[in-house]
Parts: sequence; structure tokens; C-alpha cells
Amino acid sequence: MLDLVIRRGLVVTAQEAAAGDVGIQDGKIVAVASPGSLPSDAARVIDAEGKIVLPGGIEPHAHIAIPVPEYWAGRPELMSQPPEAATRAAAFGGVTTVIDFAGDLILEPGAKPPDWSILESLDSRRSVFRDHAYTDFAFHYILAGKVAPTRIGQLAEAIQEGIASFKIFTTFNELRVPYGHLWAVFAEVAKHSGIMAVHAEDDDIVNYMTDKLIREGHDQGHNLHLVHNNLSEDLAFRQIIRLARHTEVAVYFVHTTAREGVAAIAEARQRTQPVYGEALHNYLQFTCEDYKKPGGTAVHTYPALKYAEDRDALIAGLLGGDLCTTATDDFTVHKDVKLWGNTIQTVCGGHNGIETRLPVAFTKFLVERRMPLPRFAAITATNAARILGLYPQKGVIAPGSDADLVLVDPRVTKTLTLDDLHSAADYSIWEGFTCRGYPVMTILRGKVIVESGKLAGSPSDGRWVRRKVGADVLARPAV
Ligand SMILES: [Zn+2]
Repeated sequence: MLDLVIRRGLVVTAQEAAAGDVGIQDGKIVAVASPGSLPSDAARVIDAEGKIVLPGGIEPHAHIAIPVPEYWAGRPELMSQPPEAATRAAAFGGVTTVIDFAGDLILEPGAKPPDWSILESLDSRRSVFRDHAYTDFAFHYILAGKVAPTRIGQLAEAIQEGIASFKIFTTFNELRVPYGHLWAVFAEVAKHSGIMAVHAEDDDIVNYMTDKLIREGHDQGHNLHLVHNNLSEDLAFRQIIRLARHTEVAVYFVHTTAREGVAAIAEARQRTQPVYGEALHNYLQFTCEDYKKPGGTAVHTYPALKYAEDRDALIAGLLGGDLCTTATDDFTVHKDVKLWGNTIQTVCGGHNGIETRLPVAFTKFLVERRMPLPRFAAITATNAARILGLYPQKGVIAPGSDADLVLVDPRVTKTLTLDDLHSAADYSIWEGFTCRGYPVMTILRGKVIVESGKLAGSPSDGRWVRRKVGADVLARPAV
């Protein structure tokens, strides 16, 4: 007898969306069959008629339970929301796996990370999430500053242990990894079949514009896009792509923000270089014009929102295939903290958005732009799973995969209010946004964790997931 059968839903597989049944046993999908064909004597049968059955969302970029720097918060010892709150919000938003970060994130100037090995740091982050997560979780490892040879010597073992992706920044004070060190990191990660996750901005342009705007008295927060600007993205993306080509490493650009970034990625992919791009869902809606509204920097995440043409290029990239994933850069704090800093150097980064990504993307792409359902599954789950090494365990509805599913009801129309949302925040930039279609049930490894607007999971449900990137993803643009 099966544990669970989901009957007569519109099931979205990699190839098609077709009416069907999904059979689940021991947390795994064991059958995808024609509608009504699976036995009805399962322990539980869910009638999904009229609903869309998608692979559970994968959030490839979140910052949960980390210190908020004092120059953003205006006070010390504040943390971004804890994993209980973040993964609860994720579960309500149809997300079943969250990829956060471990490692050397140094946001306070002059701060030094603990002198831990990569695996010690991974253990520490796992213990923060263990018994505190409603969804599964994994961690990119952040390498910062002048990466020591001992750290580079740990990369092979880290990949062996299932880390798979390494995050670097090309700007942000102590976080910035100089190009020489990047050369060594890229080569080592390529050698051991990992992938680089890159926050690419041109540090010289960023610093030059910061100084210039301060000097000229234009350092208000609504000018962030002049600091973290289009030229910076153009230069930085192209330099990273060039370095990646020399070292034969695959690159995942987090938060692509400008038409120049999309173009750089597209050109690299045309040359069959394994380069992948992510877009955050706030960049698909807002622009730098929104910064000027009262409290407008609430929409800000770094690098910076740009112009309408850039927003349209990101949307076109996701529709057409130049970009691969949607993400949030979730970093949830209260509104007074998000709005405390009001200059180009102090506006708090991050987005309270882990819950809204799927319904917003569904509205923008499925409803407004008629994106095919398999492509929607790709940009919300499958591509992140493939690029970041969770596939085929995660990100796909197929026999043998984890039974991570989200049921979306396309008939639900919901204009978002704070009462609809479940993070540990007292605001959302998505209040007032009308979602057409909404997640109504979330299933993690065969267990219903959200149902009928109620949390049915437990914070001990989430497990750490070991990752390994497929050879095809590392060799050429595989998605
Ligand atoms: Zn981030």
C-alpha cells in the first residue's frame, strides 16, 4: 500500500504538464501515472483536481540567522530571522529546500571570522538549522578576502562532503576576494567538480561612486543604483566570465540586476561556457524609481535595483532561457531596521521574500506572460537543483526523487497583506501585490507540511542535503 497518492492534479514533469496521479512511498515518488490509475487504498489520498502539482520550490539564496551589521541596523547584536521563521515562511510559500550559507561572511569592517575549517563551519551551520527547520536545507560556503592556501587545501574535502558550491564577492570591503586569489580558488573548485556562486560588482567603480556621491552631497539611499551601477555589473560579470573560462570553472551569478549582466551571461552561454544566472523577484517588479518613495529603500537588496529596461531584461532572460533561476536573497529584519540606514553606505541589504517568490513568479510568468508550466518549474526548482547539485533527488517530479511537492491553486486570487505571510517581520514589500494563483499545500518528502493555510510540519522535519553537481552542468550550459 502506498503512503500517499495525489490524484488527478495537473502534474508538471520536466517534459510536460499533464493530468495525472503521483504515488509516494517512504518519502519518495514511486509513480507518476495517468489520472485515476493509482490504487485508492493508499494511507492517504489527496484529491488535486483543479490544482497544479509542481516540484517543491528550491530557494537558492537565503541568509538566515546571521548577524546584521551595526552600520545597517543602527544597533549591535541583531540577527536576521531564525530558521524556524524563515523555513515556516518558505513552507507556506511552496518551498521545500532552502540553500543558505556557511563560512566566512564578514559584514562588520575589520571583523575576522572564526578560524574554523570548512567542515567545522558546515557543522556549526547545520546545528543552527537542525531541529529548527520545516524544510530541507543546504549551504553554499563563503570564501572571503585573501583566501589562505590552507583554506584552498580544504576545498577538495568540502566538495567530497557534499558542499558543491562556493560563494565569493568581488566587492564589499573585507569580503572581496582579489582576482589573484580568485584565480586559485576557481582552478581548485574546477579541479574537484564544484561550482562558483559569484556576487560580481566592480569594486573600483563602487568605491569611486561612493566617494563621489559623498563628496557631492548625493549619498542618500535613493542613489544606491548610481553606486552599484550598470557599468559595474558589465565590467565585473565579464571579468569573472573571462577568469572562469581560463580556469574552466562553472559559474552561477547570484542576483543578476542589469541588462548588461544578462547580456554577458547570454554571450558566454552562446560560446557554450557553463554560466548560469539568477534573478531576485523584487527585481522583477520594482526599479530604482521606487527608492524615491517614502520608505522606498525597503525594496532594496544589493547590488541595487536599476531601471525599467533592466527589469524587463531580467524578465526576458527568465522567459527566454538566458537566466535560469529565481531567488530572494532572504535576509529578514523588522521594518525599523530595514529603514534605519538611509545613505548609500548604510541601507540594510536583503529581502523579506522567501514566501512570496513562487506566487509572485506564478503571477508574473504563468498568468501575465503565459510561460509554459515546465519552464516555471525550471526557474523555481529544477534549474537550481541541477546547477547547485541537488538533482535528481530534488527539483523534479519523477520516480526515485524525494516527494517534495507544492500544489498551486490557479483559481485563488489573493492581494497580499501581512496576515497572509509567516516570516518574523512586521512588513513586506509585497503587501498590496495581487497574486493570481497561490500555493495551497506543501509536501516535504511525502509529509504534508502546509495544508489549508495551516502549518502541519514540525521544525524537526528539515534535513541537511548533500549536494553534487552533474558533469553536464559543469561542462556546458546544461539548463
Ligand atoms: Zn545574498
